Amino acid sequence: MTTDYDVIVAGGGLAGTIAAQSVSYYSNQKLSILVIDRNSEFMPGRKSFSGWTCGDAVSKEAVDYMANRIKVPWTEPEIEHHVKGVMAFSPDRETAIPFDGAGYMLNRQKLPEIQNERAKKRGIEFDFEINLTGLLYDDSQVIGVEGIDNKTKQPFKKTAKVVIDATGITSMLRNGIKNTTKIEKKIDRRDIESTGRYIMYFEKAQEDLTEFDPDYCIIHLDQDIAPGGYGWVFPKGKNKVNIGLGVEKSLLDQRNARMEKTDTVSSLIDQYVARNRAMKNPKLSEDEIDKNNATGNFQVSVRRQNDCLVANGYAIVGDAAWMPKPLDAGGIGPALVAGTIIGKSVVEAIESGDVTEKGLWKYNKEFINEYGYKTAGLEVFRRLIQTLTNDQISYGMKHFLGDLDVEAISKGEHPDFSMVGKIGMMIRGALNKKLAEGLRYTTQQNKWLTQHYYNFPGSPDGFEEWKNKLHQKLDEANTKLGSFAN
Ligand SMILES: Cc1cc2nc3c(=O)[nH]c(=O)nc-3n(C[C@H](O)[C@H](O)[C@H](O)COP(=O)(O)OP(=O)(O)OC[C@H]3O[C@@H](n4cnc5c(N)ncnc54)[C@H](O)[C@@H]3O)c2cc1C
Repeated sequence: MTTDYDVIVAGGGLAGTIAAQSVSYYSNQKLSILVIDRNSEFMPGRKSFSGWTCGDAVSKEAVDYMANRIKVPWTEPEIEHHVKGVMAFSPDRETAIPFDGAGYMLNRQKLPEIQNERAKKRGIEFDFEINLTGLLYDDSQVIGVEGIDNKTKQPFKKTAKVVIDATGITSMLRNGIKNTTKIEKKIDRRDIESTGRYIMYFEKAQEDLTEFDPDYCIIHLDQDIAPGGYGWVFPKGKNKVNIGLGVEKSLLDQRNARMEKTDTVSSLIDQYVARNRAMKNPKLSEDEIDKNNATGNFQVSVRRQNDCLVANGYAIVGDAAWMPKPLDAGGIGPALVAGTIIGKSVVEAIESGDVTEKGLWKYNKEFINEYGYKTAGLEVFRRLIQTLTNDQISYGMKHFLGDLDVEAISKGEHPDFSMVGKIGMMIRGALNKKLAEGLRYTTQQNKWLTQHYYNFPGSPDGFEEWKNKLHQKLDEANTKLGSFAN
């Protein structure tokens, strides 16, 4: 069958444009690629009407992963500021755990402009102001996309051998997909964080490196300030900041009931900004590169990636596949890894003449081997952390983490909590004993889950059995976690 393009990338956000460049790279620019987005050409990569809402932080390691493999360089001005790492503070501020290593603060508004110019030079085509509503099929094979062209108000249809879905967390294509039962369509509400942030300038107040540090992205764990999530103060310069927080909605309701308050994400952010001792007179950025992007709220998932990432003629990447890391909602890193890998798998499938689920299957395996092996364990760990009190988090961070655990966290892995099992370790308080039990349990689960992911089947045949075992384990874990809750 002849198609309009070899590959259609639905969604020209961060993950979509990397995937398009990856397909172009691995095919030596031989495949025809169309990127389709609902944004206008002049506001590329915008997540929603409220802007390019993001904390903007990414590790150097993830950027290098992409740059070394598909030769996509990121420099200034899309990189706005360099940092030495991320520092997570306990609620009592007595313990800080560094993670992620050196990294960058991106300008999410500028990045897609530069990215798209580079992509166009590689021959990648773009179509803007198209609102995609679904997939086109030939029997059980996806053969394209459909929607409405907002420029002409006419129906829009384009065909391709493979559609890469990068339309973000709310993906209508994934929600409506008809040719697979392997790809999950819906997400548990408890796996979503409601988040928001401001980009601001401020005058220096008190020198306090637990509140603002030009060299580190700061994370504040605190169940009163950001229930079920965390607050962040990420530097964009010496007196410029990306400041915001994320909460899990049902935990916010519980916190409001406990504290007799009626806070929302927005009111919590305002309080978080106001109480920051290092910042005086904060004002929303009016810089040209932050135009239309200084405030914004959006959602981000914090679970394992979709159990399956491919169907006949279809593959999914980035937030559409729920790739952000369960512990910190960092989605740019996994999007760069998956965006890089997906191009190779799609090109190989097209070149081998097999763009079915089986032909695209390798992408599942490769993403798991590079990144996805750890996400289910981190999902279980995150659920445990969300049940903890501030005192438990402070105690656990101070007493239960050995050097190797900190190293594991810094690499985005589940720690082993070696200190918890140490003979003679005295644990103060019944709640902390319960926490120790919980950590031992999540460590065990993580070992099993990681191994299970490394045993992900090499072809679609073994998937049902693999998935059933996974879900049985996760259901068991969710029930068990209840017994550690306070
Ligand atoms: C407040 C907040 C803070 C965050 N902070 C960080 C952080 O500091 N570091 C980090 O690593 N991650 C962070 N994340 C996560 C990160 O922003 C995402 O993982 C990343 O942007 C995902 O990119 P994406 O391309 O997959 O999806 P998106 O950025 O959502 O892009 C989707 C694209 O698809 C287009 N689209 C959607 N639907 C349609 C449709 N129907 N038709 C046509 N086009 C469509 C959109 O216009 C958009 O261009 C944060 C997220 C939030 C919400």
